[in-house]
Amino acid sequence: MYQKNDELTVTIEDQGTNGEGIGKVNGYALFVKDTVIGDECKVKIMKAKKNFAFAKLIEIISPSEYRVEEKCPVAKQCGGCQLQSMSYDKQLEFKANKVFNNFKRIGGFDTCQINMKPIIGMDEPYYYRNKAQFPVGKNKDGEISYGFFAGRTHSIIETPGCVLGMRIDGRDICKEIMDTVISFMKDNDIEPYDEQTQSGYVRHVLIRISEATKQVMVCVVTNSDELPVAEKLVDDLKEISNMTSISINTNKEFGNVIMGKRTVHLFGPGYIEDYIGDIKFRISPESFFQVNSKQVKKLYDKALEYANLTGEEVVWDMYCGIGTITLSMANKAKKVYGVEIVRNAIEDARNNAIINNIDSAEFIQGAAEEVVPKYFSENDGEECHPDVIVVDPPRKGCDQKLLQTMVEMNPERIVYVSCDSATLARDVAWLKENGYKLNEVTPVDMFPQTVHVESVVLLTLED
Ligand code: SAH
Repeated sequence: MYQKNDELTVTIEDQGTNGEGIGKVNGYALFVKDTVIGDECKVKIMKAKKNFAFAKLIEIISPSEYRVEEKCPVAKQCGGCQLQSMSYDKQLEFKANKVFNNFKRIGGFDTCQINMKPIIGMDEPYYYRNKAQFPVGKNKDGEISYGFFAGRTHSIIETPGCVLGMRIDGRDICKEIMDTVISFMKDNDIEPYDEQTQSGYVRHVLIRISEATKQVMVCVVTNSDELPVAEKLVDDLKEISNMTSISINTNKEFGNVIMGKRTVHLFGPGYIEDYIGDIKFRISPESFFQVNSKQVKKLYDKALEYANLTGEEVVWDMYCGIGTITLSMANKAKKVYGVEIVRNAIEDARNNAIINNIDSAEFIQGAAEEVVPKYFSENDGEECHPDVIVVDPPRKGCDQKLLQTMVEMNPERIVYVSCDSATLARDVAWLKENGYKLNEVTPVDMFPQTVHVESVVLLTLED
């Protein structure tokens, strides 16, 4: 049995959910931060449990052949990119394995039952995020700055520019905006929010960028109803080319939630427009929108392929957000229904249908597990009977009651889009027990450099 401060040599064989390397010594698992699959290293045990321990990297004896130099100098401290020191090909292999293993371990599927297609990766796995949220605070020298919080402290570590943030014509838009906000604060004595004393103004800056329209949005989250001399900030930000929308959001609550409930628009329409394929979407500061615009097209194309639409079908899109999947399928089906719990998102979805001249889409607001069975009992089952159900739930997966309802709705096909392959495997196993066959799984890398992976799955009704 090993204990604290023991030094061991270990070869890393896997990567954990937070990107930490995992290796075994005599069957005893060690979790080692800052290591990559294939590293042979000397480590020191920091915290020993019965079957595993957390250990600290002391020295890499022999580096993994998959190790690459990190593009970002603060990748290790930031924690946003857990896999930056792993080659991109290896990242893709790791993610594909993760999905496959979850179907085996959690879903209980045999290897031969999992028809997994190659993971869809990116050609350029950087600069893909169309959204950024930077905390504003003070660095260790007490200067106003932005970046990320260091560990569990509230001092800010500055980023020299995030390598995931989308560029327009090679310009680092996030940096241009953040430098402008910080200069404005310094010039006008606007203090950043201090969590300890709950004083000060600026908490976060939210930025959204559209690659397709090149429109840029800024929303400054403040601890007050009004930001002093906000008109000066607007004048400064307007100088940045492509600036389309500037808003102030008020969040006076203590805690980790970034956005508050109240948003005031100071410049522009209060939204930007983006495209997925040829469908246009209006995106407001609060809207949920997939962060990787390039990959989302590939993801939805795969979902569309699995839906196999001819123009005659009725499609239900559960957990539809602002209607992205619903509207992408509308022109290929007879009728599409979208179901979503957030009222604003449903309003956006209805608006998005209008601006795209789509009249075959109907949006229903409420918890899917409640409103879908209700809608069914109150309407003509024949007319709204789904040929295809698409589901794209949050990480925790589908509500059990909704799964039950889906089976009762008896669609020919279920297309399951998921950002968490563990809950996906659990739900697919349940659907298998209840009459659906697992046909095909395609992982899609929506989040290069991180441990996260999206998947799309086709299930069909057993004969
Ligand atoms: N399909 C969309 C959104 C997916 S994110 C897209 O690709 O953009 C998951 C969505 O599920 C969120 O918009 C969230 O608000 C919504 N949601 C969460 N719980 C829900 C529930 N019980 N019923 C309906 N929608 C829910």
